[in-house]
Amino acid sequence: MIEVIKELLNIITEKGFKAYVVGGFVRDLYINKESDDVDICTSATPKDLKDIFATAILPKEEYGSVTLFYNNVRFEITTFRSENKYINNRIPGEVEYIDDLLIDLKRRDFTVNTVCLDKNLEYVDLLDGIKDIKNRVIKTVISADESMEIDSLRILRAIRFATILDFDLDEELKRAIKKHGELLTNLSYFRKKSELDKIFNSQNIDKGLKLIEELGLGKYLGLSNINRVNTSVLGLAIWAQLDVVDDYPFNKVEKEQIRSIKTLMHESALDNYNLYHYGLYISQIVGNIKGIDKKKITEAYNSLQIKSREEIDVTTKEVCDVLSRKPGPFLKEIYFDLERKILYNKLNNKKRILLSYIKRQYK
Ligand code: ATP
Ligand code: MG
Repeated sequence: MIEVIKELLNIITEKGFKAYVVGGFVRDLYINKESDDVDICTSATPKDLKDIFATAILPKEEYGSVTLFYNNVRFEITTFRSENKYINNRIPGEVEYIDDLLIDLKRRDFTVNTVCLDKNLEYVDLLDGIKDIKNRVIKTVISADESMEIDSLRILRAIRFATILDFDLDEELKRAIKKHGELLTNLSYFRKKSELDKIFNSQNIDKGLKLIEELGLGKYLGLSNINRVNTSVLGLAIWAQLDVVDDYPFNKVEKEQIRSIKTLMHESALDNYNLYHYGLYISQIVGNIKGIDKKKITEAYNSLQIKSREEIDVTTKEVCDVLSRKPGPFLKEIYFDLERKILYNKLNNKKRILLSYIKRQYK
């Protein structure tokens, strides 16, 4: 990957532009963490980039980033710009392309995100970001107060980085977040969810939740019961405990899984029927919350005689034949009965046994 990056920086700089890797990739490289995509900042405009790379995907909105897949690496390329003026703490106002790396770095959120790599893969550290990476501290580039006022998304980004990287928040930043937490109410639920998803999926989730609580953000995020969440599970299982499906924009699959987790949580037992009905994935999540051994659940699931209705060993035609009846609503009732008897091992899922039971019970 690093060779591909070097090649790309060289292509852009050979055309007379400045270009550096910046942000997450450099920060993560310094602490030996892998990243998937690479942010580049450059003096080349999107149009210049399109001239260099025909496959570059131009931004939809004005002043957005160019996306480029180069040798299977995803690059987000952003033209140097002066400090964004934000309206409503979020929507950028006047943006101006510039030719100066330092000015571009000064509009960024945290010092740990301002370290660059040049085309020779040497670190370029104009704002002392390496020191803060070494000290594992998230510190704003400008005054923390002003930074949070400019863009309230930074409140959640700060907590996300502290959680995922296991860094601490600088004291001044903590004070500013406490003071400006209410600005989160102006942030879209879409943005809030995408940051919270990353926090909720981190192995270090406890740190994130503690920060949200300590900084008094629960009420501004609509997550008032966040201190009671069981964190032996991650992701959707966290959301399921928070009861916010109507506020946050979940997709259909997420909604369904959250609903299943919540319903199964309130069931008295993770018995065979529930294992079958909710499936292994949801059962394991709920089992985990309830403190049931994962191995036990997997074994119980694997020993179910059937995993779906299709696996019941008689066809509707066979049922009709043995009862000498035409198909009708009674079939549903019979299958419902068979399903339960088989799941609770009252019946063996064998055609001969099932047919003789049906004859006995329903003829
Ligand atoms: P990740 O590991 O999630 O990619 P990242 O630091 O690279 O983390 P990106 O969202 O990819 O974050 O943004 C790239 C860079 O752009 C950041 O490192 C930061 O310098 C700058 N940036 C992103 N969002 C903001 C923001 N809201 N305010 C200021 N600077 C930002
Ligand atoms: Mg990034």
